[in-house]
Amino acid sequence: MPPDSVIGVDVGGTKIRAGVIARDGSVGRSIEIETPTDGAEPFFAAVDSVIVELLSDTVAALGVGVPMNLDRRTGLALAAANLPLASLDVHGRLRARFDLPVGLENDGNATALAEWRCGAARGATDVVALALGTGVGGGIVLDGRLFRGWAELGHIVVEADGPPCQGNCHGHGHLEALVSGEAACRAARGIWGDEADAHRLVHEAEAGDARAIAALERIGHLLGLAIGSLWNMFSPDVVVVGGGFGAAAWPLIRRSTCDAARREALRPADERIDVVRAELGDDAGLVGAGLVGYEALDGQR
Ligand SMILES: [Zn+2]
Repeated sequence: MPPDSVIGVDVGGTKIRAGVIARDGSVGRSIEIETPTDGAEPFFAAVDSVIVELLSDTVAALGVGVPMNLDRRTGLALAAANLPLASLDVHGRLRARFDLPVGLENDGNATALAEWRCGAARGATDVVALALGTGVGGGIVLDGRLFRGWAELGHIVVEADGPPCQGNCHGHGHLEALVSGEAACRAARGIWGDEADAHRLVHEAEAGDARAIAALERIGHLLGLAIGSLWNMFSPDVVVVGGGFGAAAWPLIRRSTCDAARREALRPADERIDVVRAELGDDAGLVGAGLVGYEALDGQR
């Protein structure tokens, strides 16, 4: 690694990934641990441990993506939908512990930043990114700038008075409740019983199982409705679909997603709507966290 490398930390609902990230977004050494689900102190201990593991003389900053919405005035991470975390001063804690510049961003925003700078949306001016993992993260680039506010695209309503949302979200019929990896797990359990999960749903659909194919087409359809609506708001050059589940399921949901998006998008966007799979795959959140660290290093945050 050349001088001035950054450690990126991508906090997900089930795992924490950390890696040494170069300025061009390439990932050096990386490690992965389970995300503690028993509160703030175990969470901070876990984040500390992955940073310590990767720390070296060349590391000049830290970048962290969290599945939480951020208060831009105070810098506090307010609440997580899928983890028992709230009101965390992640920036202050890491700054005090490691004495390095710290960049903090919502994980969906970090994913959008990574795909825009280094992935499927390179060169675009307006981008909508959706990450389908445990939950559904989102991020938006508008007029060539990452939108730094809440882009909780996973919590838009796609089914009126639909099923309850996940985790701590008290909404109904939200995108996250219907197209996330967790939603795919629920669909799989509905078909094959308690042991089944999203991996099996994708695997069985690839093998031609009609029920699995139908369940994934339904997921793609609902995702496409949301994308059509997002298109009508932002008219992005491209919509990027990633996240662990999103990337794995993309070949199986692509057609139903694009059909529904085109159906709902206003003319002439319905003709040119461009929805693509994330290039960085599961690395997007990690790379984005690293890029946020470089922004902190360069004094941009
Ligand atoms: Zn929700």
